[in-house]
Amino acid sequence: MYRVLLYYKYVPIENPEAFVAEHKALCSRLGLKGRVLIAHEGLNGTLSGSVEACEEYKQWILSDSRFAHMAFKEHDTAVLPFPRLRVVVRPEVVTLGVKDEGTLPYKAGKHLTPEEWHALAQEDDVVILDGRNMYEARIGKFKNAITPDIQNFREFPQWVKENKEKLNGKKVLMYCTGGIRCEKASAVVKETGIEDVYQLNGGIINYGKHIPDGLWEGSCYVFDARNKVQVNDDAHHTIISKCDFCKELSDQYVNCANAACNKMMILCASCREKSNDACSAECAQHNRRGVMKPWLIDKVLA
Ligand SMILES: [Zn+2]
Ligand SMILES: [Zn+2]
Repeated sequence: MYRVLLYYKYVPIENPEAFVAEHKALCSRLGLKGRVLIAHEGLNGTLSGSVEACEEYKQWILSDSRFAHMAFKEHDTAVLPFPRLRVVVRPEVVTLGVKDEGTLPYKAGKHLTPEEWHALAQEDDVVILDGRNMYEARIGKFKNAITPDIQNFREFPQWVKENKEKLNGKKVLMYCTGGIRCEKASAVVKETGIEDVYQLNGGIINYGKHIPDGLWEGSCYVFDARNKVQVNDDAHHTIISKCDFCKELSDQYVNCANAACNKMMILCASCREKSNDACSAECAQHNRRGVMKPWLIDKVLA
């Protein structure tokens, strides 16, 4: 039995290099694996190891006044999910590419519990704004949310500039997967002069734990081998996206089997089998998993 710790905190760290060295020494001694990012603006970590090792790490961090109130998300797992330990200094805890002298996260929108957010989201003078990328929102989002057409978080500030009129004069309710991106994304919205900005504490996953029959539709995209997680309970779970080939409902992302292409697409089980995960006739030629069925080549090229 292993434990996984997920945590972040925006707080000034004067000497990130020294903090990295302290982290490496302790984590190596405890046998912890995973990834810790340390920046002048804060700390963002995912660590795993024995239950005892995780406890000792937590006590160490919490004894530091800067992190005294840090909330850890924890879950247990049978296999160690990370092969090695990486502790590195980064310019930002979450890459947004915005020059802000490190003050941006402290101007973030007001935190709301899932219950508060849920109630406010149903009022008239609000807009719900997705803080994630387009491909994430494609398989799941909050009902009536605005989903920015961006491929990378770095594009978010520009999107806000160009779409400010959609947010003007409204209460802006923001959300993201686990809450960390909203710390910055909400500050970016506030910087444009929009005052009433709120963020969903703990993100989508936490909302689903509290309100599994609420305003969420579809699945939640995650950046690991699982690819997506269910948010609602079984009775309220839905699929909102369609297969790129046949337009049947599906929320299964696959990458094109031609490694040089690697295009991200949503395919249903039947089209996966027929295409062997190739996105086109061209890619089927380079597909180690076999050649595409002739009928599908016509469909793809159409
Ligand atoms: Zn299909
Ligand atoms: Zn391809």
